[in-house]
Amino acid sequence: MSRYVYDFVEGDKDLKDLLGGKGANLAEMTRMGLPVPPGFTITTEACREYLRTGSTPAGLFAEVELHLRAVQTRTGKSLGDPDDPLLLSVRSGGRFSMPGMMETILDIGLNDASVAGLARQSADERFAWDSYRRLIQMFGKTAFDIPGEDFETELANARDAAGAATDADLTAAQLRDLVHAYKKVFQAHTGRDFPQAPHEQLFLAVTAVFKSWNAERAVLYRRQERIPQDLGTAVNVMAMVFGNRGTDSGTGVAFTRDPATGRRGVYGDYLSNAQGEDVVAGIRNTVGLGELATIDPASYRRLLSIMERLEGRYRDLCDIEFTIENGKLWMLQTRVGKRTPAAAFVIAAQLVDEGTITLDEALRRVTGEQLAQLMFPSFDQAAAPEPLTTGVAASPGAAVGAVVFDSAAAVAATGPVILVRRETNPDDLPGMIAAQGILTSRGGKTSHAAVVARGMGKTCVCGAEQLEIAADSVTVNGRVLRAGDVISVDGTTGRVYAGAVPVHPSAVVRYFEGELTAHGDPLLAAVERLMIHAGHVARLGVHANADTAADAARARRFGATGVGLCRTEHMFLGERRVLIERLILGDQDALSDLLPLQRADFERLFAAMDGLPVTVRLIDPPLHEFLPPLEELTARVARAEALGEDPGHEGTLLTAVRRMHEQNPMLGLRGVRLGLVIPGLFAMQVRAIAQAAAARVAAGGDPRPEIMVPLVGAVQELDTVRTEAESVLAGVAGAPPIRIGTMIEVPRAALTAGQIAGSAEFFSFGTNDLTQMTWGFSRDDVEGAFFGRYLSLGIFAASPFETIDIDGVGELVRIAVERGRATRPNLTVGVCGEHGGDPASVRFFHTAGLDYVSCSPFRVPIARLEAGRASV
Ligand code: ADP
Ligand code: MG
Ligand code: MG
Repeated sequence: MSRYVYDFVEGDKDLKDLLGGKGANLAEMTRMGLPVPPGFTITTEACREYLRTGSTPAGLFAEVELHLRAVQTRTGKSLGDPDDPLLLSVRSGGRFSMPGMMETILDIGLNDASVAGLARQSADERFAWDSYRRLIQMFGKTAFDIPGEDFETELANARDAAGAATDADLTAAQLRDLVHAYKKVFQAHTGRDFPQAPHEQLFLAVTAVFKSWNAERAVLYRRQERIPQDLGTAVNVMAMVFGNRGTDSGTGVAFTRDPATGRRGVYGDYLSNAQGEDVVAGIRNTVGLGELATIDPASYRRLLSIMERLEGRYRDLCDIEFTIENGKLWMLQTRVGKRTPAAAFVIAAQLVDEGTITLDEALRRVTGEQLAQLMFPSFDQAAAPEPLTTGVAASPGAAVGAVVFDSAAAVAATGPVILVRRETNPDDLPGMIAAQGILTSRGGKTSHAAVVARGMGKTCVCGAEQLEIAADSVTVNGRVLRAGDVISVDGTTGRVYAGAVPVHPSAVVRYFEGELTAHGDPLLAAVERLMIHAGHVARLGVHANADTAADAARARRFGATGVGLCRTEHMFLGERRVLIERLILGDQDALSDLLPLQRADFERLFAAMDGLPVTVRLIDPPLHEFLPPLEELTARVARAEALGEDPGHEGTLLTAVRRMHEQNPMLGLRGVRLGLVIPGLFAMQVRAIAQAAAARVAAGGDPRPEIMVPLVGAVQELDTVRTEAESVLAGVAGAPPIRIGTMIEVPRAALTAGQIAGSAEFFSFGTNDLTQMTWGFSRDDVEGAFFGRYLSLGIFAASPFETIDIDGVGELVRIAVERGRATRPNLTVGVCGEHGGDPASVRFFHTAGLDYVSCSPFRVPIARLEAGRASV
């Protein structure tokens, strides 16, 4: 028989798949001898079984009873004992942390009889009734889907009736009345009484946690964070401890290093005389953890020593939930903590310095996505006005947008918005995803808003207490802002400004540009160190897609070791468009006029990339893209004719446009097909490349151009182009040797790569076209049309235009590499689609054995980092 329950003393931190992160870490702390309330974990397997079959696995609750007995022995209390009841918390916790996304039910075991026992035992009647009303509320919401507002309304009524400012001012008798009111709410919604049998409460709670795995917000969060949907959650059942038993009690959250900057020190929030959920909800404002040193020095010292041991064990920043009950410290949770991108780099480098981890491991702990975040611009402080107010800098970044007051408005908005809330809860998630930034008036660095925003890399300022937020306006220091007013939110400093503050480039970008040195700056020093290490270990090179000398120069500063794609069609825009017009209209002289222009472009590009390869792609798009659109031209010609004028040139042009019109231009006359159909076009481009290279050589340079033929599907196409190109190259004196290769972007090219490699000295995967042709959908049309639906159905986890489709398109890549290299062992293979700068795709290209990836200049550092990470 399979086993579904593990006591905390039986697990350890490596059992996350089975016990979930929370359960595995509670087990680890128990194992380390830390003060964890006794308890046990129901496995993720039990949850998966439940989700599969709709009922709890046979024998599960018998097993639970067995483990419950052990908890009762250890605590000396028993569940449902009317004199001294054991109370339990029932907590969700899957493999990956999903803060606040699923359910936790506290105070299981209270009923009409045991509430009196709890009151006597604790000598605190108020506390007992408060716990009971919390149970009915949480239980009703979670296990029976009763809307939270129905309870909130009763709570507000009770406060009003009592003339109480806060919940804490309600007396025992008032809370007892509130319990009665809550029970009526419960009865009205469920048609049954609030369950009095503690074991029934426990079983219903466990089932509710199983179900919460598929709650809408949890599904959405997993999609956003790319967490698989089929893992299921574990359920942790543990003895309750109470931080709300007077001033020698309290609850808090601690970090072993600053999760915002990575600095060492004591970070966290503490709230006296409160339960943990009060802190997370940001209901009351907390004090800094440092103040615990004066409030309760013994617990503070104990906590610090535990923090040190946890860091030693996990070899990383840990975050911790703890509760102090009458002066006794209890650990309720720990995990390797989330952190900002800056903190990720700083901590990784610190841990290397401290001798805790190797450079390879440090590299594994930072991501290209984090580096991308650090390359975002920030506010220009010099240009910023007086801030409206300052809150807690919870998640860095510079966000400018129109104020919205609820999640739905954020989702509906067409422009950038800032979601402004008193506090957020998991239902706000869609709005948080849609917004540029999040601003709240309550809660600290560990409030829901802060934790979720940091996880998403979204700008967030929380706890801006001066904001008085009403339903459709916010007042701050007498100034009123309404929905639609633009504000600027600085998640790095906590400042909030009226209007749009100008933004300026990130320090990391200025460092890459060579404008700043890393000296004396912990973040830049960490980035530098990890980038250097990535360069040492990477097998994959990183080139850039650059069409101009300026782009190429920037890419080079950012560490690119070549241009992997120069798109020559960008050289035909602007006033040069008329030359293409002339070409289309059959004027062969247009080519000789284009030649010197192209040559000059190439010369500048080769100079910027002197000594490094520059892969020039011959013209690719359908030529009619350079002509005016059909409808526009038709209208102009018709107007001229109606006025009795001769449409002249435009009339001729219209005939040509009609002649060249294609139903499906992406599958039409483009790429190599142009070269084979328009006489002299490719030859002119090849000549321009060779002459530019010859000129660079004559000037003492070291140009390394390569010629790349697009859209080849058959080796015969390439052979024909090659024969012509070689004869042109032979006729240009003083040019260096120039390799000729092809793009692999038509599925047939991938499949016949063995033949094509006979004529190609290199391959470059054009993964944009390869993706659209493999799937058979047009990348220009799909995103709005049906990708949303496909993503929500899980047909793909991410757009295949962003992250390479490993199973399909990736298979073609693997086939082409293998067949190409079988023909030509020294074949160079790269990729030049958008995927070249996407972290997950870079990893795949490494595994597939490519020589380099090429991406936009700005993504070059990200690809360099990921290329290194793929090797360690
Ligand atoms: P989340 O994963 O959303 O943080 P948790 O399961 O950690 O949810 O619990 C929610 C809150 O309940 C936390 O503040 C936690 O400290 C508190 N809590 C959980 N278990 C206990 C317990 N045994 N005693 C006291 N408080 C608890
Ligand atoms: Mg927690
Ligand atoms: Mg293409």
